[in-house]
Amino acid sequence: MNKRAGMLCLLLVVLLAVVAAQAQPAHVTAIKAGRLIDPETGTAATNQVILIEGEKITAVGPNLAIPAGAVVIDLSKLTVLPGLVDAHTHMAITYKEKPESNYYYLTYIMDSTPLRAIQAASNGIQLLNSGFTVVRDVGNNALYADAALRQAIEQGWLPGPTVIPSGPMIGSTGGQFWPTPEMYKYHNIMFPEYIDANSPDEIVRAVRENMLFGARTIKLCIDCKPWGYSVEDIKLAISEAAKGGCKVEGHVQTTDGAQRAIDAGIHMIAHGNALTPEQHQQMAAKGIFLNGTDTPFMPYRGSEQAFKRTVANLRDAWEKKVPLTFSTDLDYWNERMKNEKTGEWLTRGDMTIAFLETWKAAGIPPADILRSMTINGYKAADIIKERGPIKPGFYADLIAVAGNPLTNIDALHNVQFVMKNGMVFKKDGVMTPEKFFHPGPVRMPNGRWTR
Ligand SMILES: [Zn+2]
Repeated sequence: MNKRAGMLCLLLVVLLAVVAAQAQPAHVTAIKAGRLIDPETGTAATNQVILIEGEKITAVGPNLAIPAGAVVIDLSKLTVLPGLVDAHTHMAITYKEKPESNYYYLTYIMDSTPLRAIQAASNGIQLLNSGFTVVRDVGNNALYADAALRQAIEQGWLPGPTVIPSGPMIGSTGGQFWPTPEMYKYHNIMFPEYIDANSPDEIVRAVRENMLFGARTIKLCIDCKPWGYSVEDIKLAISEAAKGGCKVEGHVQTTDGAQRAIDAGIHMIAHGNALTPEQHQQMAAKGIFLNGTDTPFMPYRGSEQAFKRTVANLRDAWEKKVPLTFSTDLDYWNERMKNEKTGEWLTRGDMTIAFLETWKAAGIPPADILRSMTINGYKAADIIKERGPIKPGFYADLIAVAGNPLTNIDALHNVQFVMKNGMVFKKDGVMTPEKFFHPGPVRMPNGRWTR
């Protein structure tokens, strides 16, 4: 063979290698599910196989042929179900009894944005470990710690749920604070936490600013102040948010504020305490989601009286067929947050799943609780077209538990297996997150940091 022919041969070999590399099928995983729950119908099928190629589900059914070379994960003794959703939480803030006496203004001053972003990353891992693959993180994130966490997880730097960030809450003068003139006038103490928007122009600017910096949902303080937002203000925010593909959640703490949000046709209302039975009816008729943030009465939180009211409100909303999500508003910590049996600290995931106590006390059937924790959560988060259901074409986000949550919802306390984007995060009850730590940026579609 002469030198020239040799070079041609080498070139051919290289080209073939390149073609072979491109043609190589994506990594295939086959999950054997002893029981597979479809929360949409509240039913379960036995002995199912779920095939996953790369990040997505390709087939689901009984006795599917498992392709040669597939990695087989045997969950035949467990119940498999879609990942869970907390539709309203705050991963980047934790106010405490010590030293700030639960005074959350102080937390904003004492904890920097970077520190809070790292805390959010830790809370995200804790939530994923408890089976939460989607989290709506809606405000009180300093300067966009929530959007940064979403980006970091998308880049593949660390494991975590799919974060739906809101950026800072948008409110009329003062936000949720009652600042002093010293704090307010120069906006350099505490005012990363809220964006003041007092006129139509300012509302449009605030919504655009949040979307520019990575928000995937918009959070409005409807009635944090007596001056609050009018129906027209809320409608304006909804239409501006829609231009960036965002749905609007309204923080509501008065019956009047709730009515304005309902009349404006808002996507979600946060906090259920001020809603009347008539308003539940209106929300059901309009399909407005309720992120009730239904706090249980625990040794570390709440009172019996408040709990009774919360349970009654949740029960009424369920009876009126309001689309309910599972939501917590968790943003606090104290030294009583320990497992009573083991004495170990509860994780954010443990405290989140503990909100089941309210749902059980309201007498809501497990199938409806599961629907709220999954399907309704994906709809509220506006991701149902791509993520959530265990069906071909969807991202492979799924969990497995011992027992059957359709008959005993407490089975969700003991998540044995978690898969996110087709990668195993937890197996046999132990975190195995090695695959999630990519050293460089791996995704930047369309030259942008967010999809
Ligand atoms: Zn909240």
